[in-house]
Amino acid sequence: MNLHEYQGKELLKSYGVAIQDGIVAETVAEAVDAWHKLREETGTDMVVVKAQIHAGGRGKGGGVKLAKNLEELKLHAGNILGMMLKTPQTPGGLNGPGKMVRKVFIGEDSYRPDFKACKEFYISILTDRERKSNVIIYSTEGGMEIEKVAAETPHLVHKEYVDAELGLQAFQCRKIAFHLGLSGLAFKNMTQFVSNLYAAFVGADATLFEINPCLKSAEDRIIAVDCKVALDDNALFRHKDLEAMRDKNEEDPTEVEAKEFDLNYVKLDGNVGCMVNGAGLAMATMDIIKLSGGEPANFLDVGGTADAARVQQAFSIILKDPAVKAILINIFGGIVRCDRVAQGVVDAYRNLGNVKVPIIVRLQGTNADVAKKIIDESGLKVKSAILLQEAADLVKEVLACA
Ligand code: GDP
Ligand code: MN
Repeated sequence: MNLHEYQGKELLKSYGVAIQDGIVAETVAEAVDAWHKLREETGTDMVVVKAQIHAGGRGKGGGVKLAKNLEELKLHAGNILGMMLKTPQTPGGLNGPGKMVRKVFIGEDSYRPDFKACKEFYISILTDRERKSNVIIYSTEGGMEIEKVAAETPHLVHKEYVDAELGLQAFQCRKIAFHLGLSGLAFKNMTQFVSNLYAAFVGADATLFEINPCLKSAEDRIIAVDCKVALDDNALFRHKDLEAMRDKNEEDPTEVEAKEFDLNYVKLDGNVGCMVNGAGLAMATMDIIKLSGGEPANFLDVGGTADAARVQQAFSIILKDPAVKAILINIFGGIVRCDRVAQGVVDAYRNLGNVKVPIIVRLQGTNADVAKKIIDESGLKVKSAILLQEAADLVKEVLACA
């Protein structure tokens, strides 16, 4: 689960990480209130107005604007709220439809009092699965796309691996501050910043923190100006406060619906819909689809109880994706009997009525032969297979005709 910038900042702040302070607003009137409050605290009229959507690159798309006074604040808040913001990271990129902005963050201008004396860094924390440890990735080249920095000047991107058992050590924080070219108060503040940031990462069971830019102000403060936070869904049960931050507007509507049905569904970019029981079999199915020249449109694990009702729910979810050109159903009948699944498929197909894409069913296990008969004799546009390779070949065949 991802957080909005303003939510991520709340989380960081609760761990003592210095952030660009600000207030979230849903209307221009609320933005005006926020501006007054910030002016009282900071003594300046200058604020930054930032669109709150789950995508980076907002600045480039016109979703981050500086306002020098109240008039400009009203103008920018009015323009940004309700806009369809396109960034390189919104669905379809800059040519896509963009994402609706429902909230703005009115932030203090962190670059005051001396913009020119500020320096932007990049800091992220994630898990390196190969090394079985967390890693802090950081660079002096903040404020821009880190992918570009890594491609063009890889020597400017540093990595600090953190042993999960030992935790982040003080010498590692100092090493990071040193590599970032800091000294004096800024050095001290950076070691504190990194140490608190790491504590927040572990404490919140996060999978990704990305602070870009992390700012050194003219007064040597170290501040998170932006933050991207992704949390581990499997640990959310012990973070009810963070779980409550979920914004369903930001999630894929079919994924939200699937969650309500208790189906493990992840939307992907391909054209072959998959309905499988068991995560391992689902991954093997996706592999074989790729090997036969198709691209999976989703990951879907219907779980152990692949009965008629679930098959139908899964069907309707897969069919909501207009990119789907064929569906491969791959069910192993262990706990569940294949003939019942087959009947479920046939019933779902009839009940849904409008299924136009070809369906390939591969049922293996208990009563597989009976199941094949049910499918073959149903008179529907469903093809059956017993071997996985046969199923993959059928997928290839129907895609060639599509
Ligand atoms: P992103 O484009 O989605 O990554 O959004 P960011 O929060 O990183 O903001 C984009 C850029 O806006 C930053 O790299 C800064 O250069 C600029 N920016 C953000 N906050 C402020 C601010 O308070 N003052 C000034 N002068 N610039 C800011
Ligand atoms: Mn950013």
